[in-house]
Order: sequence, then C-alpha cells, then structure tokens
Amino acid sequence: MSVVFSIDAPYRGRYELHRLTYGSGGPSVAIVAGLHGNELNGIHAVNLLNKMLRVQRPKGTVHLFPLVNTFGADQATKRWPYDDQDINHSFPGDPDGPVAQRIAHALFEASDADLCIDVHSGAPHVRELPQVRAPMGGEELELARAMKLPVVWRRPGIRLEPTGLIGAWRAAGRKALHVVGGRGITLDNRHATTMANGLANLLGHLGISANLDSPMTVIGDVTHSDVETHRASCGGFFVAEVRVGDRVEPGHLLGYIQSPVGGERLDEVRSSVTGVVMTIRAYPMIHAQELLVRVAGTK
Ligand SMILES: [Zn+2]
Repeated sequence: MSVVFSIDAPYRGRYELHRLTYGSGGPSVAIVAGLHGNELNGIHAVNLLNKMLRVQRPKGTVHLFPLVNTFGADQATKRWPYDDQDINHSFPGDPDGPVAQRIAHALFEASDADLCIDVHSGAPHVRELPQVRAPMGGEELELARAMKLPVVWRRPGIRLEPTGLIGAWRAAGRKALHVVGGRGITLDNRHATTMANGLANLLGHLGISANLDSPMTVIGDVTHSDVETHRASCGGFFVAEVRVGDRVEPGHLLGYIQSPVGGERLDEVRSSVTGVVMTIRAYPMIHAQELLVRVAGTK
C-alpha cells in the first residue's frame, strides 16, 4: 500500500490517499471507492477484491483506491466534512485549490489507467440492486456486461457531469464505468460481495486475473426507457412490499403509502411491467414526487 497524496489536517493526523497496486504493465485498471464517505458497500467491495488479488499474479496492472474520503467516512458524511464539498464534483481538480479539489487532482493523476471504475452505494435513503451504468454502446458497454452484475443500465454520456470522476476520466480519453449497489450509511455484505465478484469478473474478462467462475448473470440489460420509475403520488409513509432483486409481473404490489399518523392507506404502487426491482426507497418518510421504486424491465 502506498500513500500517493497527503495533507495536514487540523488535529487528527494527516489526510492520506491510499493506493494498492497489483502487477505491472498493461492492460491497466483503476478502481476507486469511497469518494463519498458514507457509501460503505463500495469500500467493502474493493477490499473484498483486494483479498482476491492478493493470491493472484495479475497479467497487467490493477490500482485500488478503497477509500478516498476518509474523513467523510469517519463522520458518516457523503461530502468532505470540513467545507461540505463533494469530491465527486471537484474533478479534474486543482493542486492549489481547496482541499476537495486537491484530493480530486491527486486521485485523477494517480488513477491513470486504460479503464477506470468508480464504485458507489445508493444514497442513504434508497437501496440499489448492484448495477453498472454504462454508455449506450461501444467497448465500455461490452466491459460492463462482462461484469455480470444484476443490472446493466445503458445511459447517454451527455448526462455525465464534467466535474465528476467518470466524466473527467472520459474527457481524458480513458474508458470509465460507474458501479452502484446497496444504500449509503449501511453495509450490505451480500451486495458488496456481488459488486466485488463483478469487478473480479471484469478483471478475468480482460485477462488480468484468473477467471472467477461466478454463477452471476445479468438479469436486466436496460436503457432509460426500459426502467419503470414510480414516484410518490402524495406525501406519507412508504411501506415496501418487495426487495431489490425481486422479479415482478404486471400488477405486482411493490408497496403502499400510508398516513404516518394512524396508518390509513393513501395509495398503492404496482408494477406495470415484467422485470426486476432495481431501486427501493429505504427511508419511509416521503414527500410527493420522490422516488419510491424502479423496476428494470426484462421483456
Ligand atoms: Zn456516491
């Protein structure tokens, strides 16, 4: 493990950006987690992958950055805690800028690779089935599918923020993929393990590591129009009747909204498609129009 960047912190010891490197030469992959300090599933997934790599002799180079926003993780916050900046909105960064910009710059420089993967959890109030978000076509989509995560979500590149890590990597001509699973603040070992296996599948596909013979398969391979998004028709208390990964048919009850005082049922949420539940609201207090459930259509 090497420290690729550090800065003085007010009182708790220095901030350090850690990188673990396996192998040398090409092809090269950089895998980053914990840009958002409270997204623990990504951190755990990269550490699980680290355990797998320890017993391998990679044919190529793998750089792991398991936890970028260490102080955010300490405090269970997504952003850099001192000035509330989102490191993932700070790329490509500035070596002379505010701290989040300096960390972003150091990470961007140290993650130079042919292929870069940014691993996140969902927000604290939503749970995501492990998924990879990829462009609409091309080699990155092929690589995304090789991970065999439950959902491949093809999204137009135009949606990417240029100040985000993925956008900055792509602007620099590197291939980049975005992996998301579980929810913020909590650790779901099952989802983290799925994400780690997906990363290992990708390294196997690239010939960097031995092929992990994982039984995983892509359940939903979707574009935005294949994803059925349910938003709250009214404010209230949302009770989910399904879990992420559940397969549903048209008419399947996904959950209901009830009054937080007295429990009167206000609305029901039902699938209108055949598919797999990919996102569920986890924090039940909801305002009108907030996201409740996403179903990835499989037909
Ligand atoms: Zn995140």
